[in-house]
Parts: sequence; structure tokens; C-alpha cells
Amino acid sequence: MQPKYTLDDLNRDFPNDEACLEWLKNLRWPNGITCRKCKKIRKHHRVSNRLCYACDSCGTHVYPQAGTILQDSRTSLVYWFRAIFLMATTRMGIAAKHLEREVGCTYKTAWRMMRMIRQMMTDDISELTQLLGDVEIDESYFGGKAKNTHIDPETGWHTIPEKTPVLGIVQRGGNMVTHVIKEPTGIEILPRVRKHVLPKSMIFTDEARVYRNLPRMGYEHERVYHSANIYVEGDAHTNTVESFWSIAKNGIRGANRHVGSRYLQGYLNAYAFRWNHRRDGASMFRAIVSRLPSCPTPTKEPVA
Ligand SMILES: [Zn+2]
Repeated sequence: MQPKYTLDDLNRDFPNDEACLEWLKNLRWPNGITCRKCKKIRKHHRVSNRLCYACDSCGTHVYPQAGTILQDSRTSLVYWFRAIFLMATTRMGIAAKHLEREVGCTYKTAWRMMRMIRQMMTDDISELTQLLGDVEIDESYFGGKAKNTHIDPETGWHTIPEKTPVLGIVQRGGNMVTHVIKEPTGIEILPRVRKHVLPKSMIFTDEARVYRNLPRMGYEHERVYHSANIYVEGDAHTNTVESFWSIAKNGIRGANRHVGSRYLQGYLNAYAFRWNHRRDGASMFRAIVSRLPSCPTPTKEPVA
């Protein structure tokens, strides 16, 4: 475990927009900026009062924020870095209200930043993760209680959410991947298992029928008989994936909001991201910020 990167470290490394921009520039162009007019690497200098650099020989401008989620943002970079830090280092996740206070921005800005950062934390995990060894698989349901009625902050509409089924696959001592699914059936579950879990792995599940197909798919399979009140029998348990469910559920509940099924995947990915980076301490912050250049600008979506 690396030494903890604290909020003090952050404030020291990124005291102002200047420092954030410089850092972003070095991250994107570690070997120097290729001027698009000169068509070669040129020295660049900061342009005062603009968030850009200019080529020393021809003056062409280059914007480190271009093509990242920060592209169209009028929010100060210091706010962004602080928000990313707080979201990365808080295990349960945080509420927009909390972020508003800690970062010192408006509620609306906090809320918008959180949505975009969550998207950035989506990781390649949901598509590329490959698990092996001892793997636990479980489904759970999110939302659905009348007391979780959601009031849209923008429109004021109330909606009682549906329960949304979610599939969780976790390697013991390793990574986690989650998928919002339409229903807990073989068609929804088994292809995802095949995609993420390498053959010959040992898979632990509850006694749901859908998992009876696992041996035919080339996996070792052990079932836990929850209905008989047996939760742990030697290695046969699903405690790892269940502790992930409880972190995610407590986190979402603690943030005091219902998450519509449309956005649930984004939230779950953020929790999975934290889970998968739990050992890098707060260098998780760096993991997220380094994604800035490769993270495409989000498409405009209606507010959740
Ligand atoms: Zn040039």
C-alpha cells in the first residue's frame, strides 16, 4: 500500500488552475506538444488569461482540456480536481450536498461534476474484466421502495422506482464487475459469465436454477443453499459479493437518493471502481485523473 495521498497533498500539488492545467498538459503530451501547424514538436508557452498554450514559433493554440470531460466546463479546474479526489477517496461515495460544501462550489455544479466523474470511473471494467480462480456470482435488486420516491431536483416530479435486478461477479481477493440486467434469467446472466470468467474457474453461487448450466460451460461449480439457512460451508459462500452489495446499497442510501435504473449502472461502476482500486489507497485519485484525456466527452443526456 502506498503512503496515503491526503487532501493536504492535493492542495499542495494543485493549488490553482494554473497547476492543474500544467499537470494535465504534461499528462497528455509527456514528450512535448506537436504543433498542428508546424507538424513537429515545438516548445509551447502559457497564454495568459486563457486555458491554453501557444507554439513558440507560429503561435498556434492548444487546449489541454479539449476532448476531455472538462472541455466545455466553466467550472474551475481546482474544483474538478478536488471533486475527483473526494469521490475517489470516500469509500461509500458522497452526496452532492457534501461535495458542495467541501469543494466550495454551487449544488448544481457539484451535482453535474459528480455525474461526469462517475462516468469517468466507469473503467474498462464492465467490458474487459477477466476473472479467474475462485469467483462468486450473485444477483441483487436495487431500489423499488415507495419510501425511496424520487423527486427530480429540476422538474419536481415524483416517481416511485422499479426494482432493478443487478448481476455481480467477483473474484475473491480480486476485481468486481457488475451489470444491470433485464431479469435474472440464463439469457441475461450466462453470456456475461462466459465473457468475464475464464474457463476452469471455481464459481460459487446460491441455488438459483440458472447456475445449473455452469458445469456444462466448463466451470467448476459449488452452490450455497441459502434457503436451508446455510450461508457458509467451508469455501462455499458468496460473502464477498454480498459485502459489495451492502457497500453499494448503503452508499446509495447514504447519499439519500434513489438512482433510476438508467443511471444505476454508472453508480455501480463507480462502486466497482473503488472496490477494484481499494488497495492503491488514494492514488486512486491519480488513476481517475489520468483518465481525463482518454475519457470521451459525454453525450448530452437528460438530467436524472
Ligand atoms: Zn507551430
